[in-house]
Amino acid sequence: MDRDTLKVLISAEQIEERVKELAEDISRDYKGKKPFLVGVLKGAVIFLSDLIRNMDIQLEVDFMAVSSYGADTTSSGIVRIQKDLEQSVKGRDVLIVEDIVDTGLTLNYLCENINSQRPNSLRVVTLLDKPDRRKVKFEADYCGFKIPDLFVVGYGLDFNEDYRQLNDICILNL
Ligand code: 5GP
Repeated sequence: MDRDTLKVLISAEQIEERVKELAEDISRDYKGKKPFLVGVLKGAVIFLSDLIRNMDIQLEVDFMAVSSYGADTTSSGIVRIQKDLEQSVKGRDVLIVEDIVDTGLTLNYLCENINSQRPNSLRVVTLLDKPDRRKVKFEADYCGFKIPDLFVVGYGLDFNEDYRQLNDICILNL
């Protein structure tokens, strides 16, 4: 790994503190319920595992994997489900756990897909949000950090499958 190309944007300490706050907010809002957390593979795995260890309510976890496809993968808006949920979300209080909202196309699609299965409620928590890049109107219910239009890696986020294991969120200068 070439550390010279990486610049820390959000430190591990800042992430830890913010994830705890998010976990407290979510635990308070879902008190007496048993939310069904849907982690979006692979980027949200580290965020989800830290988030749930800071939550003090009953919960369930499942995962989905999606990919954008088309000539221009970032703007096609076409999302393909590569791995679907193993359990039904009908009547459940679903909380999608995502690493980053960029154009908003992925979460827009995921929310439509899950809403069509009639959950009792549906909310989204994202660790990062790049509001400047939105192509569709989308606002997460819980957000860790709003960041500028920069490509970031670490804490689960990759570049060609590298850098997921970094403890900090870093700007990657290619
Ligand atoms: P959207 O559909 O909102 O444009 O894209 C969301 C997905 O794009 C994220 O789940 C993530 O996989 C990818 N993505 C967007 N911005 C970044 C970034 O800065 N770094 C990395 N590693 N992935 C990103």
